[in-house]
Amino acid sequence: HDCSTMDLLAHLDRCFGFQSFRHGQREACESIVAGKDTIVLMPTGAGKSLCYQLPGILRDGVTLVVSPLISLAKDQAEHLKKAGQPTVVLNSTRTKKQIESARSKIAAGKVKFVLTTPERLQKTDICELLAGVGVGLMVVDEAHCVSQWGHDFRPDYLCLPSIRERLGNPPLAALTATASERTLDEVRCSLRLNDPTIVRTGIDRPNLRIEVVRCYSAEDKLKQLHRALEIEGMLERTEPAIVYCGTTKTADQLAKSFGGLCYHGKMRKADRAAAQEEFMNGRPSVMFATNAFGLGIDKHDLRQVIHVELPGSLESYYQEMGRAGRDGKRSRCTLLYDPSDVDLRKMFAGGMMAASKIMTAHHTLVRGVHELGEDGEVALSKLAPISPLGRVTLKNCFQLLSSRGIVAPAGRGRWR
Ligand code: ADP
Ligand code: MG
Repeated sequence: HDCSTMDLLAHLDRCFGFQSFRHGQREACESIVAGKDTIVLMPTGAGKSLCYQLPGILRDGVTLVVSPLISLAKDQAEHLKKAGQPTVVLNSTRTKKQIESARSKIAAGKVKFVLTTPERLQKTDICELLAGVGVGLMVVDEAHCVSQWGHDFRPDYLCLPSIRERLGNPPLAALTATASERTLDEVRCSLRLNDPTIVRTGIDRPNLRIEVVRCYSAEDKLKQLHRALEIEGMLERTEPAIVYCGTTKTADQLAKSFGGLCYHGKMRKADRAAAQEEFMNGRPSVMFATNAFGLGIDKHDLRQVIHVELPGSLESYYQEMGRAGRDGKRSRCTLLYDPSDVDLRKMFAGGMMAASKIMTAHHTLVRGVHELGEDGEVALSKLAPISPLGRVTLKNCFQLLSSRGIVAPAGRGRWR
């Protein structure tokens, strides 16, 4: 499977119509095509899927892709089908008949990509079926789900090494956006990778600009929200944006007064699905949502993510704002901050301990963002390293910020 760089470029253009590789993609493709175990660490939106899709086309046999969320798999399947690749998605929502037809296509060697979840691989005999036709590459997407210390731990990911064995030990490519050393070690060990190539680009998202806008009253905040949405014509519905709200009530109210879409956990399932569909595939619009909107939302051309209330932690802030600009174009992340919001959150906490922890996290978040951006605009590279530390505590956040010279030790007193 020697494939020169020129060949790869030609295949890239032929299969996907892309003229050039993005940072890290060529290196990842070369390693995976050559059959080496590979870990790809790239930020969200950097183009990790391509790193397995191109090699999968070039290698013999079926490429098996394991995904934690079937919505993520569906998105990738669309991309593969557009590139003319016979692809099936196996999940529990398929009817018996659909599964049967997919199985016979696989058995007949008519399928190149199979996308599924680890649960599915364990509960069915799909593994044996695949072993019969020959798997040329196994891909583990969102590989950090194997980390027992992380937020997204999925116990079923731990069975992937034995599944790989049952498939006759094909080369494995692990993809993730979580870039801490600890996660990397866990991915390498738990997936039992064999001297893997590690392709790691920075976690910077240079096209994202973070802005914190200090607001002085509810009225002022509305004004600032209006201003933020006027940028790039979001109010005129020429560019899509998400406005994250702290409560379902705020989401309802703002959606109504701004005439946008709404999404939260208290809506009827059908209404929620309709709003999501409209946002993903309709005219550009503004989605007013709680954090219920997000997991698996993969819209590439989001130009702005606005938080009208503080997110629960620095981690969730990083994740939520990270949904902007996945296509690499310049996008904005705006946090509308009014210190009195912290009291609102406190009510949810139910208990002194929890309340004080949440307040601490919020102060840390806001101070962190403030300290980072003197002019209100900072590159995410400065904020992002805080995130992989896991849960934000006063201590680790302060240590990190001060070790980077972002907050002066003199500020220590205020971080109590
Ligand atoms: P990730 O999984 O890293 O978050 P994706 O694989 O979903 O990111 O890719 C994000 C977007 O970038 C997709 O729309 C994809 O088509 C696009 N993309 C990937 N590689 C290239 C490339 N070399 N040239 C142009 N667009 C690309
Ligand atoms: Mg991805």
